[in-house]
Amino acid sequence: MALLNILKYPDPFLKTKAAPVQSIDLEVNKLISDMVETMALARGIGLAATQVGVGKRVVVLDVPGDNDEERRERGKNLIVLVNPEIVGSSGSITYDEGCLSVPGVTAEVERFSNVTVKALDREGALFEIKAEGLFAIAMQHEIDHLDGILFIDRLSRLKRELIKRKYKKAMERQDRAL
Ligand code: ZN
Repeated sequence: MALLNILKYPDPFLKTKAAPVQSIDLEVNKLISDMVETMALARGIGLAATQVGVGKRVVVLDVPGDNDEERRERGKNLIVLVNPEIVGSSGSITYDEGCLSVPGVTAEVERFSNVTVKALDREGALFEIKAEGLFAIAMQHEIDHLDGILFIDRLSRLKRELIKRKYKKAMERQDRAL
């Protein structure tokens, strides 16, 4: 396994649309393993292939559950989605989202509170999963990445400009850090 470099906004690749995976071969399998490792080290709850510079429709998620034990134990809720598709949605929820590709800033984004997602698993078997709450939010956030959409793109223009300014300042501070 290897750690992958997570692209940071405004890297233009983050705006690209990923292509469906044709077959889950050795290369895709290695990508999945590397993404799982990279997500764990970055302490993320989700990672899309687009974020590591690969234009394939692959997402890994590890969303903590509601109880404390699940919160502590990483990897417990690991799920791999190949060619994910939202096939059902309802309700709405607002959550203060962050992103490994836009580090240091968060903003409230409104999304569906419940989604049903169809995808292939690591072995290539088709499955359907229902998600709610943070799990549903993370699924929508990651599938957005595969379509070249960042959470900041879902904000109003005014809020987006504000977040961009904040982000720029945070990045400048980081450049000067020892
Ligand atoms: Zn993200």
